[in-house]
Amino acid sequence: MGIILRGLCGCGYDTGDMFIGGGFTNFMDTCNAPAVCLQCSELVIRNYAKRGSARCHACRSSLTFYDDSSLHDPSPENEVSDYLFVWRISGKNEYFKLPDTNYLCPKCRNMTLVFKDKGHWD
Ligand SMILES: [Zn+2]
Ligand SMILES: [Zn+2]
Repeated sequence: MGIILRGLCGCGYDTGDMFIGGGFTNFMDTCNAPAVCLQCSELVIRNYAKRGSARCHACRSSLTFYDDSSLHDPSPENEVSDYLFVWRISGKNEYFKLPDTNYLCPKCRNMTLVFKDKGHWD
């Protein structure tokens, strides 16, 4: 049900495989999604369905999820293309969406991070 994404940047940053969305046993209350701690320059995976309480485990700062347009390359032509990933928060009229665009790299702070779809899990 979820998908596997891998984030890669020209600076050499590599997130490794990230398990995004939810699995068969937890999709009702879980949407694992990438977020960034701008204090620690770290990309982390947190439950978007509980984003109100999502904090960095290291510094306790609030996190910015990667659906936030401040983390997207603002070029309009990048935003018109299809979504890479859309997840409906179960029981709510809310969605977590990742457009197929470039993203802020937590390491070099350029809009040069891309997420590659590596297939489905669960
Ligand atoms: Zn932090
Ligand atoms: Zn980078």
